[in-house]
Amino acid sequence: MARIVQKYGGTSVGDVERIKKVAARIKGYREDGHEVVVVVSARSGVTNELIARAKAVCDNPDEREMDQLLAVGEQETIALTAMALHGVGVPAISYTGAQAGIVTDSVHTKAKIQGIDAKSIEADLQAGKVVIVAGFQGITADGRISTLGRGGSDLTAIALAGALKADKCEIYTDVDGVYTADPRVVKDAKKLEEISYDEMLELASSGSKVMQSRSVEFAHKYDVVFEVRSSFNYNPGTIVKKEVAYMEKVVVRGVAVDKDQAKVVVSNIVDQPGSAAKVFTALAEASVIVDMIVQNVGRNGVANLTFTVPLTDTHKVEKTLAPVLAVLGGAQVAIHDNIAKLSVVGVGMKTHSGVAATLFTALAAAGVNIELISTSEIKISVIIDKSKADEAARVAHKAFALETL
Ligand code: ADP
Ligand code: ASP
Ligand code: MG
Repeated sequence: MARIVQKYGGTSVGDVERIKKVAARIKGYREDGHEVVVVVSARSGVTNELIARAKAVCDNPDEREMDQLLAVGEQETIALTAMALHGVGVPAISYTGAQAGIVTDSVHTKAKIQGIDAKSIEADLQAGKVVIVAGFQGITADGRISTLGRGGSDLTAIALAGALKADKCEIYTDVDGVYTADPRVVKDAKKLEEISYDEMLELASSGSKVMQSRSVEFAHKYDVVFEVRSSFNYNPGTIVKKEVAYMEKVVVRGVAVDKDQAKVVVSNIVDQPGSAAKVFTALAEASVIVDMIVQNVGRNGVANLTFTVPLTDTHKVEKTLAPVLAVLGGAQVAIHDNIAKLSVVGVGMKTHSGVAATLFTALAAAGVNIELISTSEIKISVIIDKSKADEAARVAHKAFALETL
């Protein structure tokens, strides 16, 4: 007998027929004698629809109210999944994040899990029930509903697997595993049998939506091995773990595209010590996550600062920087949302040269202009025009022959 945490994403619980299929799968695991804890997302599209409604009634919705609203999506699917299990004769009970004892900090819409008090879940498992937990949500110390950032059900599952010392954690989605690129964009992308936490984290934080990046960070920290696999078949998926055995000669393992970034240009900043600090301190205090940063060489006493932020934070960036610009000698801010970030990732880059040259040459041949570049030991990212992003992903995939991995 094993203790298994399974997470079913939005498409996997997209309608009542799919929910019944999920219940049948869970029943199978129960009949094999396993203890099962299930995390579910909202039906696909529901969270987006709720956000759109919030924006339709208010330009800049309050984040506490946003979390009250967004938690609704998962509350529907936990109850329906529990009922579907009852329907096939399996004892089951649903839990909201708060009922599951998932305590978070109070940074609404991207709260961090501080601890999980799993006593009630343990008791229900002992009583022979399947426990269904709402993904993506928790409760703050003072009793407010919080959410864990988009895609946060992955984090709920991995954190629960850690807290419950599960033998297995399975992330069920609508593709067979983690591929060398988004298989919907790059048709000859290859499914990887296994991938390291480091590479998975870089892919996820570079826009590969298959896993939420914070969930991978959490898995790495607590060494929670997990498998990404499809809820539509029984094919083996991709195992994500610390070390993976593969050939040294594999330099690049994957390509990711992030279309949810915006480029911010702050121009005419007075070129003196402390200017950049003022800009980024203000953004940090507003909890805006800044990614790529470039400052050009100052000229005539002024400089330009260019950086990227999540598309969802552009409103906040404008509001936060307005008072800072005044003290920076009349600097101006411009926000460009027609960009995308393309990244190539691979641990093998540490020991190989020429990766950047190969990428840039391939993009140039395809007529893709590069606006910003950043590199780390295992990743190269470039900012390009959003309309060229999918084509650029195919070009990069081909340039590193990832279809032959
Ligand atoms: P879920 O609702 O199950 O959480 P998501 O939509 O969040 O599912 O993530 C699955 C999607 O991630 C896939 O449908 C696929 O289009 C996309 N994706 C992006 N990059 C990759 C990749 N490298 N490997 C697999 N899927 C990817
Ligand atoms: N429903 C949430 C979202 O769409 C969480 C999740 O699906 O993981 O972001
Ligand atoms: Mg997801």
